[in-house]
Amino acid sequence: MVHTCRNCKRTFSTELQYELHRDACWDDQLICTRCGERFAERGATEDGWHYRCPSDDCDADGIGEDLQPIADVLSVSR
Ligand SMILES: [Zn+2]
Ligand SMILES: [Zn+2]
Repeated sequence: MVHTCRNCKRTFSTELQYELHRDACWDDQLICTRCGERFAERGATEDGWHYRCPSDDCDADGIGEDLQPIADVLSVSR
């Protein structure tokens, strides 16, 4: 079975490889606390300053406000 990283679309032949990669890969991921959407930090900004949720029907914005680093969220819920 092949595991595909939902963040960067790389594929891994074992679950262990995938999980190791996922932890590192998702370090720069943000999660929208309003709609639950997960996305890359670079995908949520155009000028590197203002961040907003990329979902069309969600107007959440602001890192540390509506958008939280996913690593923080995961470590809290762990
Ligand atoms: Zn990845
Ligand atoms: Zn959102």
